[in-house]
Amino acid sequence: MALAAYASDASRSRGRRHAEPAVRLRDDFQRDRDRIVHSTAFRRLVYKTQVFINHEGDLFRTRLTHSLEVAQLGRAIARGLSLNEDLVEGIALAHDLGHTPFGHAGQDALHDCMREHGGFEHNLQSLRVVDALEARYPDFDGLNLSFDTREGILKHCSRRDAEQLEAVEPNGVGRRFLDGTRPSLEAQLTNLADEIAYNAHDIDDGVRSGLLSLAQLEGLPLVQRHQQGALRDHPALAGRRLLFEIIRRMLSEQIHDVIDASSGLLAAAAPADAQTARRLPALITFSPAMQADSTELKRLLMRHLYRHPQVMQTTAVARTVVRELFDAYLASPCEMPDDFAARDDRARAVADYVAGMTDRFATREHRRLTGRDAFAVVPPGTSP
Ligand code: MG
Repeated sequence: MALAAYASDASRSRGRRHAEPAVRLRDDFQRDRDRIVHSTAFRRLVYKTQVFINHEGDLFRTRLTHSLEVAQLGRAIARGLSLNEDLVEGIALAHDLGHTPFGHAGQDALHDCMREHGGFEHNLQSLRVVDALEARYPDFDGLNLSFDTREGILKHCSRRDAEQLEAVEPNGVGRRFLDGTRPSLEAQLTNLADEIAYNAHDIDDGVRSGLLSLAQLEGLPLVQRHQQGALRDHPALAGRRLLFEIIRRMLSEQIHDVIDASSGLLAAAAPADAQTARRLPALITFSPAMQADSTELKRLLMRHLYRHPQVMQTTAVARTVVRELFDAYLASPCEMPDDFAARDDRARAVADYVAGMTDRFATREHRRLTGRDAFAVVPPGTSP
């Protein structure tokens, strides 16, 4: 398929930090995606939590299935806008590689532990994984990905962190956070696909868990109009099939909304190439009406799901587990594998090690090091 003039083009990428010869059959963005799929960090995503802890049920999203859904939605939007699907796929599959075990609870706890040592931030950690922590190649650390993929992975970055990145990699992926420019259109798109994916699957998982009910969601315009549409076309539809049909229609409407709204902006701005698009305001967006609907949905999920007492109770335990693991390894680095124990930057080595853990490995290590079963007192979520 022909790419738009403003699409990212692998042959015009700023390239890799360590130059590598081209290969037959695959361009650089396709190679990036393949490296990500074969990485150790990618396989760990299967046992990392999104909202629900891994042991709460087998059918909840994990970071792996979330990342696959982001890639699927992202590719659909990229196709609709003649943007680079392979770049979108690579960014989507890598975007959560830096997440700690136990979702945001783990990240918050680790950030607290690292307060005196430069903090911890999962976007920055995703970049660390692909730049430094994966150890698979003879000539360099990390996966040596293209600039464009790395740029997309670093979705947010504080000014302080950007300055530090800029110091080691002048004019690199930290630069845009200092000069206020934007990432490639493919990176903007993947960001939005991430949002579309988790809004939809958190509804599904929320209802599956019993913590959220369809009745609570009916007040949302985004849910209401698709419930009405689904029941108009299938009057007998009820229960989970009705929910699935609502979610399917929601996803479809949001994808088309992004494509239509962004097509309009792209046609008006007509960036001559991918680099010009980085200097323009964000061009991949929802329509204002859909943005409002999406914000309302997010607010509801925050209030009724992410802050549900049962979720809060589990995340409080998860925070304790992460903090106690951090303290234990900091006090006895020899409890970690040799490559982490031998590092001079001890606190960062501990953070890297703990961040890489899956939910169940962290739980097991915590039991080994403290003799306590942290989650034993928490009633498990309703099994699907
Ligand atoms: Mg995500």
